[in-house]
Amino acid sequence: MIKKVLIANRGEVAVRIIRACRELGIISVAVYSETDKEALHTQLADEAICIGPSSSRDSYLNIPNILEATALSGAEAIHPGFGFLSENSKFAKMCGDCNITFIGPSYKTMDLMGDKANARRTMKENGIPIVDGYEGHIKDENHALDIAKKIGFPIMIKAALGGGGKGIRIVENEKDFINAYIMAKSEAVACFNNDTVYLEKYVKNPHHIEFQVLADSHGNVVHLFERDCSVQRKNQKLLEEAPSTILDEVTRKKMGDVVLKICKIVGYVNAGTIEFLVDDDKNFYFMEMNTRIQVEHPITEMITGIDLIKEQIKIASGYKLSFNQDDIKINGHSIECRINAEDAKRNFLPSPGKIEQLNVPGGFGVRLDSAVYQGYTIPSFYDSMIAKLIVHGKNRQEAIMKMKRALAEFVIDGIESNIDFQFKILNDPDFNSGNYNTGFLNKLVNNK
Ligand code: ADP
Ligand code: ADP
Ligand code: MG
Repeated sequence: MIKKVLIANRGEVAVRIIRACRELGIISVAVYSETDKEALHTQLADEAICIGPSSSRDSYLNIPNILEATALSGAEAIHPGFGFLSENSKFAKMCGDCNITFIGPSYKTMDLMGDKANARRTMKENGIPIVDGYEGHIKDENHALDIAKKIGFPIMIKAALGGGGKGIRIVENEKDFINAYIMAKSEAVACFNNDTVYLEKYVKNPHHIEFQVLADSHGNVVHLFERDCSVQRKNQKLLEEAPSTILDEVTRKKMGDVVLKICKIVGYVNAGTIEFLVDDDKNFYFMEMNTRIQVEHPITEMITGIDLIKEQIKIASGYKLSFNQDDIKINGHSIECRINAEDAKRNFLPSPGKIEQLNVPGGFGVRLDSAVYQGYTIPSFYDSMIAKLIVHGKNRQEAIMKMKRALAEFVIDGIESNIDFQFKILNDPDFNSGNYNTGFLNKLVNNK
């Protein structure tokens, strides 16, 4: 087993990884920016090294400083968490070149799947269903318009290297297309340093359903069933649940088989997620693969009893999976609410600042993955997600009641949070009936 791991991340995911390391008897090394000197991950890790000024570019994205910190600490492996460098194949390759184990798939797989246009191409070549679209070379905006007309409007323009719900544009009709295309390309350069975009038919109000996978380096692959992440604001997830209310056993089995096939096609190793769009007729289409641990991984842990971060570390240490597909069963129902330091009443404006009072929920079936404490000042430099509240119930109804009970206990004073907004979701009749899709939240926000 790996003996010492450096965590190239911050916030709740860094804390989550430190916890897994400790339970495995592994020494953890945190890295922190100047602002994060007092952050929970800096305090909880066995060792902590400052890697630069507050801006992400100078610290959590600063590859030379992170590699130097790894060398200084003597860590043999790096866990990248999510966001930051987690999907940067150049970073993964440099780790390999420096004899540091990157806890994730090979940089080649990351390259193949990280470019979403490339991933679509690979899926198409292998007969995996994808949404109508175009992922080939686009000469110029007029060429793009011709292609868009063939696919049919409305259409989505997506940045090939996009992520986190960013770099996506919906174009309703032909006359808006060229302008949107030019804007999409310039946004793609600004955000992802690459202007490649691809086109996809806009599926109206689909369900976002994703499958968790684990694959070891000995050729064993399993999936851990699905998560429904259709509660989204601006293509970003806000609440997730597992299992999905809309999948029947036949579709679940079909999708699971496709997921295993995809992993075999790309030679996947470690934890990953395959995201699908599912329409009302239960047709499903590959959307993208995230070659890392995901924000909402805990709900899968709750229904399967498998600790995904520990599995990631074991796989990176060369262990074989200790279970096979038939051993993995869905037990009960789990829901996660992302708790963001945002003001839902002011268009979800980030609300950094000092937490004056904090009372956290607990009790049977309640889990809080958090990065904050009373007296902590949330910096303005990073993502606004400060905690994830996760519940597990014997069925969906119990999970919803438990989440409402836990949210009601949760007090965060000094800053604004989206706790009240999460309540609104949980109280909505459509959510309760399970009859919702990615269009759900827009309706909720607009019918205040
Ligand atoms: P998940 O896919 O795990 O549900 P998100 O899409 O919300 O999670 O992304 C997880 C975190 O990583 C967020 O903080 C998001 O802003 C960030 N992120 C994801 N992909 C990218 C990317 N390509 N570039 C920059 N940030 C990203
Ligand atoms: P990211 O890399 O930012 O996660 P995705 O390609 O996974 O981007 O898309 C993010 C979200 O945008 C999806 O979960 C879905 O809600 C919406 N979306 C993406 N593609 C389509 C599409 N073709 N039609 C309708 N909605 C889409
Ligand atoms: Mg996605």
